[in-house]
Amino acid sequence: MTRLITYMHAYTQWPGAYCDTKHHSCCYPKTGKPTAEFSIHGLWPNHKDGSWPSNCNPDSVFDRLEISDLMGSLQKNWPSLSCPSSNGFRFWSHEWEKHGTCSESELNQHDYFATALKLKEKVNLLKILKNAEIEPDDGFYSLDSIVKAIEAVTSHAPGMECNKDSAGNSQLYQVYLCVDTSGSEIIECPILPRGRCDSSVQFPKF
Ligand code: 5GP
Repeated sequence: MTRLITYMHAYTQWPGAYCDTKHHSCCYPKTGKPTAEFSIHGLWPNHKDGSWPSNCNPDSVFDRLEISDLMGSLQKNWPSLSCPSSNGFRFWSHEWEKHGTCSESELNQHDYFATALKLKEKVNLLKILKNAEIEPDDGFYSLDSIVKAIEAVTSHAPGMECNKDSAGNSQLYQVYLCVDTSGSEIIECPILPRGRCDSSVQFPKF
């Protein structure tokens, strides 16, 4: 029996931390260096226990024609930073096929991407943090102050994920927000990911 999807999480990444790690470097998209904004990693359907299914429908292949109206917004808000440099289609196709097909009964391919973009627009993480004087200036900030600043706006504690920069510092990498299965309402996360953040984390420049 297939297990039910009970919520989703929106994954947002800070490009400065994606690009500055010991393990990999990054490549800017063919369209150039993205703006210094949080960008979308994906929208993942989850089971109640926080586990997530993947690759739920091999017949539902990514079709770029279905999202042609979203192209400009995807390039801006959902750039791919992996190497080699790309125009995003590989990343979007991967996210749809691995994660999006698992919530296809709620969101078709067009709506999957449109919903992720709408959420990104609704929760402007960089603005929220800047308003709390937390800026991507290579400075260190308490993890707690970052969580509290986001929670004050969304009413729910976000999950925070960190990685290590080349010098071994814990840095703000991904923010994890939970949403209902339609992807429109932010909800309390049933389970928060263990995010490997130190109590003080660097917010790297990009
Ligand atoms: P996921 O973690 O969503 O299951 O897989 C992400 C995949 O997309 C990885 O294979 C990763 O290399 C690729 N990818 C391409 N561009 C990006 C990017 O900008 N950020 C992340 N997190 N993954 C990317």
